[in-house]
Amino acid sequence: MINVAIVGSGPSGCYIADMLSKKLDGAQVDIYDRLPTPFGLVRAGVAPDHQGTKNIIRQFERTFSRDNVRFMGNINIGSDISYQELKDSYDVIAITIGALNDRNLGITGEDLSGVYGSGEFVAWYNGHPDQADLNPDLNCNGIAIIGNGNVALDISRLLAKTAAEMGSSDITAEAASAIDSSPVTDIYLIGRRGPVEASFTNAELSEFAELDRCIALVDPAQMPASLPEGIDPKEAKAIEKNLDTLRAYAANNADSKPVRLHLMFCASPLEICGSDGKVSSLKLEKNTIIDGRAKATGETFELPVQSVISAIGYRSEAIGGMPFDSDRGIVSNNEGLVETGVYTAGWCKRGPQGVIPANRSDSMTVAKQIMADLEATPPAGNKPGSAAIDELLQARSVKTVSFQQWQTINEAEISRAVDGKPREKFNRISEMLELID
Ligand SMILES: Cc1cc2nc3c(=O)[nH]c(=O)nc-3n(C[C@H](O)[C@H](O)[C@H](O)COP(=O)(O)OP(=O)(O)OC[C@H]3O[C@@H](n4cnc5c(N)ncnc54)[C@H](O)[C@@H]3O)c2cc1C
Repeated sequence: MINVAIVGSGPSGCYIADMLSKKLDGAQVDIYDRLPTPFGLVRAGVAPDHQGTKNIIRQFERTFSRDNVRFMGNINIGSDISYQELKDSYDVIAITIGALNDRNLGITGEDLSGVYGSGEFVAWYNGHPDQADLNPDLNCNGIAIIGNGNVALDISRLLAKTAAEMGSSDITAEAASAIDSSPVTDIYLIGRRGPVEASFTNAELSEFAELDRCIALVDPAQMPASLPEGIDPKEAKAIEKNLDTLRAYAANNADSKPVRLHLMFCASPLEICGSDGKVSSLKLEKNTIIDGRAKATGETFELPVQSVISAIGYRSEAIGGMPFDSDRGIVSNNEGLVETGVYTAGWCKRGPQGVIPANRSDSMTVAKQIMADLEATPPAGNKPGSAAIDELLQARSVKTVSFQQWQTINEAEISRAVDGKPREKFNRISEMLELID
């Protein structure tokens, strides 16, 4: 038998597990996750009103149902079981822990009440247990969201939608109620660079054309007359599509709906200003774009916001003893190889970029490398696999959540949902463990 441990049950871990459990003779694949719930950011990152994107879970469920695959939920590698203990027990380890720790803006005022990272904000509305108590203060008229990618769009859209528009989503009841009671009238989505450089995808950007209470606005002066020279034709097509959508927003009437989404470009946050420890405004500096790069102009302006959410990227979390690149916030690796017998894939390998399918090709490459290395140097066959880990967990009174037990949690979430919601998530680990006890 070849004992394989995968650390992290998000898309990257699931894709590696799928391939190794099917193609590697004699493989026993154990997938660890620090949460009792599998599927990583498909459950806790992908927007709750984008249920179609979550359909990939059905494919992952088939992997977990194989006889040689075991889900080891509620086990934190690094605290419940050490990296060294895992290495002592398994022939092969794949680290697929993702990246959800927010990068800092690095400006004055970041510690004020009312400032949130997108990682924590998204985790809160998606019912991730880490942020069950975030309780963000949304009692504000103006909210700034910093970043020009799809995560920034997701957050803006969720703040802009009505309760009815969120009706068929799986946003937590707490988050739905906090957003519904917010008196927000102006959401500012701020990008350092211009509309050409923004990394929005058009499907997400276009959704603002049809919202019930929110109108999307762009300052026509920020729209380029044409594309700069030298852009790859495939990329140019996608950018043109975004520019068309933004031009339509530039023609919108600001007074036509009660909530305005201001898509603002070429501005960098300089300082979050506060009063009584809370955000009172955001000071920005205008940029000019030279060869696709933002260059500060020295001209500043201020926005009347009481909350700031930064969506400028994520870092992975180091596990004690595991090689880690602190500068880049990723697991140290050479094309997926961390050290002999240890591999990595997904967001913790490449950094927080790429949609779910991008992780598939990455995981396939790493799984093929694992199989090639095992063929070249077969394991000695003396690693005990999960038997040794089970003993450690029992001695430490750590409860493992199996895939079957996750299914119990899943069914309970579905059956307690009301008003057409697909599920009402449990956002506390204690609630989930009580349920399966
Ligand atoms: C807000 C947001 C919205 C997104 N929306 C979309 C979308 O609409 N469509 C799309 O295609 N992509 C979307 N993505 C991107 C997609 O979620 C990622 O490409 C994908 O989830 C990365 O997969 P991963 O397996 O590398 O990491 P993750 O999905 O983050 O999985 C990592 C797993 O590791 C576990 N873990 C972490 N540390 C430990 C530890 N120490 N011990 C045990 N387990 C651990 C975590 O609990 C988690 O389950 C979105 C991302 C974000 C942040």
